[in-house]
Amino acid sequence: MKPVSMIDLPLEYATRKMEYDEAIQAVLQVGDFIKGKAVTELEHQLSQFLNIKHSISCANGTDALEIALRALNIGEGDEVIVPAFSYVAALEVVSLVGAKPVLVDVDEHYFQIDVTKIKSLINPRTKAIIAVHLFGQAAYMDELLEIAKAHQLYVIEDNAQSFGGMYQNLYLGTFGHISCTSFFPTKNLACYGDGGAIFTQDDALAQKIMMMANHGQSAKYHHEMVGRNSRLDTLQAAILQVKLRHLKPSLAVKAGLAGLYQQQLLGVKEISLPRVAPHSQHSWNQFTIRVHQNRDELKKFLAQHGVQSMIYYSKVLSQQPAYASLEKDFPVAQQLTKEVLSLPIHDQLKEEDTQQVTKLIKEFYG
Ligand SMILES: *Cc1c(COP(=O)(O)O)cnc(C)c1O
Repeated sequence: MKPVSMIDLPLEYATRKMEYDEAIQAVLQVGDFIKGKAVTELEHQLSQFLNIKHSISCANGTDALEIALRALNIGEGDEVIVPAFSYVAALEVVSLVGAKPVLVDVDEHYFQIDVTKIKSLINPRTKAIIAVHLFGQAAYMDELLEIAKAHQLYVIEDNAQSFGGMYQNLYLGTFGHISCTSFFPTKNLACYGDGGAIFTQDDALAQKIMMMANHGQSAKYHHEMVGRNSRLDTLQAAILQVKLRHLKPSLAVKAGLAGLYQQQLLGVKEISLPRVAPHSQHSWNQFTIRVHQNRDELKKFLAQHGVQSMIYYSKVLSQQPAYASLEKDFPVAQQLTKEVLSLPIHDQLKEEDTQQVTKLIKEFYG
């Protein structure tokens, strides 16, 4: 049996080698490595794809989030609400700008921030909610936007895992005051290194974000504000242009694979299958099951038979040493850290690969 990995980037490259090589060569021949033509083109194409007014590329998804907070003047003395079960970035940037992160538990069905637990945490210092669209599907946007409106809070979408996912037929990343994404190699829309982007409908915010990500410059060598260097390389932008052309088919392949997993694993009573949230289109960055019995042994068994799987996430964020001072009582998040297991899903995976994975899972519980 051939090994099944979480993602196969060399195979993805090989499949579209001509397109990638051509895009890379075009940059090498011109040499516009910083702020080159491909960057401008990509930003335009991202805006068209999402149907949003402004797309500003930057160096990575974490920078995108930090710049978003700074653009909204969030810092010392402010509080920002973030999910307790997630990747560390959204939490980290709140601390980095000097604000206080306030963690909230997630819901057990969709693993998204629990909107019923937010209101009691809001006080006059609360400035924003970071809506992380975890694993490829939408956070509860209607409820989040309603809470934000009632309490005059900003909503920042963290769309790093869900680029191409939808909510009520609109792309995620178009609901918040600002939204942020990452082009890390394992994301839905990914480059061959680090990359990120920031999106907004607001002209003034866009202008500010653009300056902040490029040394506070409003014109070359004219520094309007204190900024930083957070730019997307032209080479990565050229690669992303190729990826963006293939994004819709790639998401369709993953949706097909998710359907196969759902069918093949139906009735395995030791696990719960991922649910698709109402009114949303999952983008399947992860296919994450809940394993109610012997999760770690199952993971080991799969690995012994050549099937990779991953635990996203094995700790609630406040269980991390760096965030030990934060609130700890998140029963759902805690339970999920003991149960979640993400199975391989990517656009190079074949039906027989899913069969191999699910056959092993059934054999394990046989
Ligand atoms: C990957 C990721 C990020 C950060 O992206 P980088 O480009 O690695 O900085 C932020 N939030 C979430 C939810 C992510 O999955």
